[in-house]
Amino acid sequence: MKRIAVFPGSFDPFTIGHEGIVRRALGIFDEIIIAVGANALKKSYYSLATRKEMISLVFRDEPRIRVAHYEGLTVDYCKAQGIRYLLRGLRTAADFEFERAIAQSNKVLAPDIESVFLLTIPEHSHINSTIVRDIIRSGGDASVFVPASIDLTRFRGEE
Ligand code: ADP
Repeated sequence: MKRIAVFPGSFDPFTIGHEGIVRRALGIFDEIIIAVGANALKKSYYSLATRKEMISLVFRDEPRIRVAHYEGLTVDYCKAQGIRYLLRGLRTAADFEFERAIAQSNKVLAPDIESVFLLTIPEHSHINSTIVRDIIRSGGDASVFVPASIDLTRFRGEE
């Protein structure tokens, strides 16, 4: 049976930190679904379609990666897809505390689903979508923080 993981997130935008986690996880899983959370209440800077397009550009030559989106609870999405592994990245102790609470709650909701964490490489531990977004909004050059295949000048934010 194939080992398939879901890598859920806002990816607003997708950064080299996210990319690093996904590429390393390809050594562990047969397939990875990068699932963009579409939260009607949480306004994103880039539209859902734009976020998915950016991620698809990064992995266009990688048949083991799929890009999808979902609404509602991540564990419900995994259950509906029959997926047993949830992939997340860790940068700092703050990430750990946040992720611990989510993963332990998910374990109660969905005991069959395992959360798997990869620690980011030190060079990526400061990279954060919120900061990248602020740089873009303020007219700065954030290209070093996103994968080279994403040309930020081609994409417009919503605000
Ligand atoms: P969310 O809104 O679900 O936190 P994000 O897009 O911010 O979505 O993050 C998705 C996942 O990627 C999370 O597990 C987060 O910890 C991880 N992540 C974010 N930035 C980095 C990075 N620079 N290095 C490694 N993992 C990261």
